[in-house]
Parts: sequence; C-alpha cells; structure tokens
Amino acid sequence: MIKISKINKFYNKNKSNEIHVLNNINLELDEKGLTTILGPSGSGKSTLLQVIGGLDKSGGSIQYDDNLFQRVCNNKMDLYRNQHIGYIFQNYHLLHGLTVYQNLKTQLELIDVTDEQEIDKRINICLKAIGMEKYKRRNVDALSGGQQQRVAIARALVKGAKIIIADEPTGNLDSKNSIEVMNILKRLSKHCLVLLVTHDKYLAQHYSDRIIQIKDGQIINDQKNENDDSFLLADSDTLYLDQYVENVLKANNQTVSLYTNKDMKVNIRIVIENNTIYIDNVNGLPIKVVGENTDKEFKEHKITQLDETKEKIIMFDEIKKKSTSEKIKSFFVSFKNSFLSFFFSKSKILLVYLSFFFIGALLCGCVAFYNYTVKIDESILKNYPGDAYRVDPNQGKATSKYGFEFTYDEVEEIIEEDNGVKGLVNIITDAYFYMPYVGNRTIRYKVENECYGANSYVCGRDITLFGNEIAISTVLADELIDYYENFGINTYEKLKGINFKGSFQGIYSGNVVIKEVFESDNKTIMFADELYYLTYTFFVSNEGNISYRCLQEGEQLKNFTPVKVDNTYLPKVYLSNNIKRYFNSSSSYVVAGYFDSDKFEFVYENQAEYEAFLEEMVLFSAGNVVPYDARDFELTEGRLPTNDKEVVIPHVLKKQYKIDSHYGEEDYRIVGYYLSSYPDNASFLYSNAKTAYMHKLKSIFETSIKVRDTFDFYIEDEAKALAYFDSIGYECKNVREMVLDEEYQSNINDKQIAIIILVCISVVMVVFIFFMNRSRIIQSIYTLGVYRALGAKKSKLYGKYLLDSFVMSTFTAILGYLVVYAFVVYASNFVPSLYVLPLHALLMVLGLYFVMIVASLLPVYSLLRKTPVEILAKYDI
Ligand code: ADP
Ligand code: MG
Repeated sequence: MIKISKINKFYNKNKSNEIHVLNNINLELDEKGLTTILGPSGSGKSTLLQVIGGLDKSGGSIQYDDNLFQRVCNNKMDLYRNQHIGYIFQNYHLLHGLTVYQNLKTQLELIDVTDEQEIDKRINICLKAIGMEKYKRRNVDALSGGQQQRVAIARALVKGAKIIIADEPTGNLDSKNSIEVMNILKRLSKHCLVLLVTHDKYLAQHYSDRIIQIKDGQIINDQKNENDDSFLLADSDTLYLDQYVENVLKANNQTVSLYTNKDMKVNIRIVIENNTIYIDNVNGLPIKVVGENTDKEFKEHKITQLDETKEKIIMFDEIKKKSTSEKIKSFFVSFKNSFLSFFFSKSKILLVYLSFFFIGALLCGCVAFYNYTVKIDESILKNYPGDAYRVDPNQGKATSKYGFEFTYDEVEEIIEEDNGVKGLVNIITDAYFYMPYVGNRTIRYKVENECYGANSYVCGRDITLFGNEIAISTVLADELIDYYENFGINTYEKLKGINFKGSFQGIYSGNVVIKEVFESDNKTIMFADELYYLTYTFFVSNEGNISYRCLQEGEQLKNFTPVKVDNTYLPKVYLSNNIKRYFNSSSSYVVAGYFDSDKFEFVYENQAEYEAFLEEMVLFSAGNVVPYDARDFELTEGRLPTNDKEVVIPHVLKKQYKIDSHYGEEDYRIVGYYLSSYPDNASFLYSNAKTAYMHKLKSIFETSIKVRDTFDFYIEDEAKALAYFDSIGYECKNVREMVLDEEYQSNINDKQIAIIILVCISVVMVVFIFFMNRSRIIQSIYTLGVYRALGAKKSKLYGKYLLDSFVMSTFTAILGYLVVYAFVVYASNFVPSLYVLPLHALLMVLGLYFVMIVASLLPVYSLLRKTPVEILAKYDI
C-alpha cells in the first residue's frame, strides 16, 4: 500500500516563472491492480510518478506499507526503492553496450543478488515471461523499441518489485508493441501494483482497474474502471475463431467456414481445381494465407485461464541479509567485475589510460631526478679524517675569549693545554706528484681535492720516515695508481720507493720518496719530520736527493771526464753523469768534471771548500727545528734536550755557538752538538717533538696565515675538546659533518629549483588527473543516472567507482610508477645517486592512489548529490 499526503512540488520556486507542478496531492494506492494516471501533457503526471517512485524530492510525505518518508529521497528511501519499486521509463533507460542478460544481472547485483545460479534462474524466468528468451545474449542496442521496453520490464521484474511504475511505457512504441507491453503490465498487475502514466485514454480504459485524472497538478477525478481481460489475453498473432460471427456454408460435401466481424460484407468467389484454390477477391481486400505470408494462426477458442508459468513470475524470495563470508565473496566478485570491465569494456579510453601511465612514470622519474640533483656526493668526505674538528671563532658566542679570529698565541694555548686537542691539521689544497722524465716528459698528477698533511706527531701513526720520505694513505695511493698505472705502477708495492717531485702547498716542495702506504679512509700524506718541520723549503726542494761530499784522498772517480776550467777562485766540483743535465757552473762553484755513479753525487775537490759550503748551507737553512726522537743521530758533545726549547745544533756550528748559549730569535738554549752532514740533517736543530711542532706552527703563522678565522684540529678526546671549545665560546664541529653541511647548504639552491619543478609537475599532474577523471566519469553520467533511477544506494555506487578507479589506477598510473621505479632500482647499480627510497616510493604510490581515487570519486560525489531525476535531466534525456 502506498499513501501519499500533501505532496507539493514547485519548479523555480519564488521566481517569476514559478510552477506549482503538484498541488497538495493526497492519494492512496492499493497493493495490486493497474492504476492509471491520466492527464494532458504538462499536467504533472511524470512529476507525480517520480515523487512516488522516490526519484525526486517534494514537500509532504510518502508511506510505503509501514515505512513513512518525509521530504523524501534519502538513503532509506533508496533502500526501499531498490528492493520494491521497479521503474519503467518511456525511453527504456537500458545500459547501452551490454547484453540483455547483463542489463538484468546489473539490476540484480544492485539488490545484492550475486549468486550466479539465482541470477540465472531469475533472468530466465523473467525473459520467458516477456517472451524474450531468444534475445538473452543480444546487445540491447540491437533490439527494437518494443523489445527494449520489454527488457526494461524484465528488469523491474527480476528484482521482484512490489510496485511497478511506468511512465508512458508505450509512448515510443507502435500499436502492436504497445499492446504487447500493456498485456505484460496487465498480467503483472494481478500480483503487484502497476502505476501507469499515459495520455492514451483508449489504453487506459481498456486496461486500468482505476483511473486517476490529473490536471494542473491536481487530481480532478479518481474512479474505478471496469474492464475485462480481453486485451490481456489477446494475442495479436492469433485469430480466435470464437470471437467472430461464424457462417458455415455446406453443400455437396464441401464446407466453407466464414468468420467475420458483424457488419462485414463479403464477396468472394473460390474455384478449386487441380489441387489449387483460386480466389477471386471481389472486395479487393488484402489477402494473406496462413502459414505463407502472415504470422497469424487460427485458434478455436480464446484462452480464459492465465498461463501458470507467467503467473509466478514475480514471486521471488525475499533477499536474505548476507553473512560476512558472503559479503567477502561478493566483494571479490565486484573486484573481479572491476577487473573485467577495465580490461574488456568496449568504452576503453586508451589515451586517458596511457596518459595516466605516463603521469605515474613521470612522477617516479621526477623523484629520482630530484634525488639525483640534490644528492650529496659523500665521496668528498674522503679528504677529511674523522677525528678532525673545525673550530670557528666567527661563529663563537659574544662572550668568546679571544674575539673572532685566531692568533698564534691562542692556537699555542689551545694546543699546550691538555684539553683533548692533539694538534693542528695542515690542509693542503694544492698538491702535485710529478714523475720526472718518463719517456722524455714529466708526468704530473694533481691531487684534485683537499688533502691532509701531517707528521707522525699529529697523526700518531707508527711509521718512521727519514729525509724526504713520505707515507700516503690508501685512498691517495689508489688515485695515484689510477693515474700512473699506464706507466706500470699498478700496486702499492710498486708505488713504494718511487721518486716523485712533489709540491705540497704550505708544507713542502721538492723530491719525495713514497716509503709507505697506510690504511686510511681519508687523503693524508705523512711527511718525515725533516720535511714536515722544514720552514724554508727552498734548498731541499731542488736538491734534497743529491749527496754532497768531498773527494777522498787517493779516490779515483769512475770514468772521469775532466772539463776544461779557466783560472778561477770558485770551488771546483765534479758531478755524477746522472745529474749533469741539472747543474752548470754557477756563481758559487765551477763544474770541473763528470763521472759515472749510481747515486746523484756532487763532489767537492777541496776539503776546506766543502766545509765552507756546508757551513754556509747550514747557516742558510738554520732554524728548522726537528724532533730528535724521530731518528738516531750521533751526539758529539753535550746532552740530548730534555726540556722544551732546548736544542742540539750541528757540530759544524760549534765555533759560533757555545753550549748553554742562546740560539736564534726563538731563544733556544743550546745543550749539545751532533754530527751532521748535508743534506740529511745538517740544517736542523734537534729538540723534542713539542718544541718542533710549536716552531712549525709559528712559522705557519709567520710565513703566510698569521691570523686565521678557522682551524682544523686533530682531536684526541672528543668530549673533552668539545667541552673546552664550548667553554671558551667557540663553535667546534666535526670537519666531515661540516663539509657535509656546507655541501648541503650549497645544494639548497639546486634543491629549491628541483622542488619547485617537482611541485609544478605534481600540480599539473593532479589537475590533469582531476580533469581526465572528470571527463571519464562524465561519460558515465548516464549509467550513474540509470543506476540511481533503479534505486542503487549511493554507498554502493561509491564502492563500485572506488573499486573501478582502484583497478584503473593500478594498471595505469601505479603501473607507470612501478615500471620506472624498477628501472631506477636497476639503474642505481650504475648511477648511485639516481635512486628512490623504498619508503618514498611506497608513500608516492599511496599518494597517487589517493589522488587518482579522490579525483575519480569527486565528480561522482557531486553528481550523486543530485536526485536521480536531476542526474537523468543532466544527461538530457
Ligand atoms: P507530464 O508528465 O504530465 O507531461 P511533467 O510532470 O513532466 O508533465 O511536467 C509538469 C510541469 O512541470 C510542466 O509544465 C513542465 O514544463 C514542468 N517541469 C517539469 N520538469 C521541470 C524542471 N526540471 N524545471 C522546470 N519545470 C519543469
Ligand atoms: Mg511526462
């Protein structure tokens, strides 16, 4: 039973063109029977049906059985509609592109019938009822109007609707089809309520049990209508003989039976000869021969009993509430359907899918590229030892002890105090290793990045180096090997003993020999004390490798070749052939001959001249303090230094400097002499390591840097050092961390650009995704409208579109993303800074799903806020 009260409906309310379509309509409808609403066009019939059918909103209330709805069109009403009301439209509203079977199946799925057997059973029964079994697999677009409308009726039937609402169902049909459709509806009305709208009085009078006349939105007449079942049982293909006036003409064993409507005049002459009937059609009426040019057949009697199978058609069981396992099952069925419809739907929009695929791919590419551009190359760290800390007074607090620049006194104090600091680090920003004269050319290798130079005092490594020996870290050795392997130097062993000319800015420039390669993950060169503590590197730099001596008495030089020398007061020297190319007579000596030797020898002819030379050289390079514990040497007089600033000096200087006297500006106290010979050690004062080190520091300040604002210190005890620098108000940071920080800072610009690009691309993508999805969904407005008209719950439609867009996203954008991700993972083996972190990838995938799904659901959402009628109107049907 349906009871509607005080239904009012306006269009364009409160506007000048306001239409009061339904004017306070009250109506009660029975559970069965065919009720027709009759009225002229524009009287509000359709609107009334839509309101009763829950497709549109109105004022007033509607009650179906015990369910009362006010201001209708909500979810509860959807539920009712979905299960109990079947709507038949003038223009059918079938789902295009689907078969008859699929159309009906979709309706069943909307009311949660997912059991295949049940679906099959219901569809078969309904198709049989409307005589469409043959067309089960036919695409609905390939059916005639009458057939389509019959499918629409079947669609209302399959769900077992209690109320069938039909708005001009025959409006688009010819009279034959109209009768067939009406017959079906009439049959249905024996079991349920059929509410029909028509403006065809003739049909109304012949079929209706009740006729409600409506005009200008008001009921003007409402009465029962007496009718028999004659139309119902009429079958337009059958001629029931008992419906006509029968005239049987019998004569001479011949019978002619004539059946006519009462007032029919017939004039026919018939001749039968040679088993052929010849008819002379005197009236000139069209002639049809049963079984040849007409589908009609004769039947004796009109059937008065209704066909039993057709009786049962709408008596389906109530749909049971689903158990959890059934719900899960039906979820998977929907999921499967989403898959199938994605891959096999004819309305595939390949270009859109392809563009989503590329969006996913592009996104992953962008992220990888972003990482690539902003990735900090950690290999720069290999220049810096882990235990070096950079102290920056500039960054200090206002209360810092010394102000904002380092002075020598301050550095001296920092190092002398026991505060966890071991010493100053020398950063060599410019270093060369020349390998002289390989194939008549000098090969030079430049240390590209900063390098740390140190002596063992600071480095604390147990490597003993003498003279011009150096030790290098494995990192540096690897670089050298990279560079020199073309010249046969391809192992650490082969590097050892090689003589390079070296230039190590701020420390030393001259010949060096690689003595050791030590394990270290940063670029460090360790120098022998003699080199490291050397301040005036000028002399040794050129000749450090050459031995100076005097000709022994009676010594014969090998293969001696004299050179003619004019009278001269300069000392005469003989050069070994292998240094011939470097030296010529100069203002301090004359070359008087050459000889063969394995060594690079510079031999003075005269002992006194040699000693004078030595003295001169010693004085020239005096002042280089070297820690005596670095090597053995022979004391000739006095004792070893025990306190800071005590030194032993070369024996050759004994004449000028007495023991206990002071030496040089530094005020070293002389405590002894040692046996010296140039070049190994003649130019050095020996003291303890600390004195030597402080001397070196001072010379650094004096020669070049004097005042500096940052220093790198080696830290022995990190906590202590940090606390110390903190206490004097200086910022102190691990050099490696700092270098990373700086690199990071300098990357920030790149990063910002990369982020801007990434954001722009993302925004464009999101906008694109939204528009594409919108147009994709707009294509299915019709489908959505039909679904809604059929009573599909909004939540169900959301669910369906969510699944659809999930599947669509998975095989487009997400697939694109993952393909590129896989590529990036593979490529990162070769280009380490091209990468996407798995976590980021995961977040991106989720984000992409989110955007894709929201973009798909938003237009659905905005559409579903409208009433079904509004949606269908939007599609302009
Ligand atoms: P019927 O079905 O009896 O021909 P309708 O119920 O379709 O009439 O329409 C009743 C009146 O309401 C008509 O005058 C029609 O122009 C008007 N109408 C219908 N739908 C709308 C609408 N969406 N906006 C404005 N007027 C409408
Ligand atoms: Mg209408």
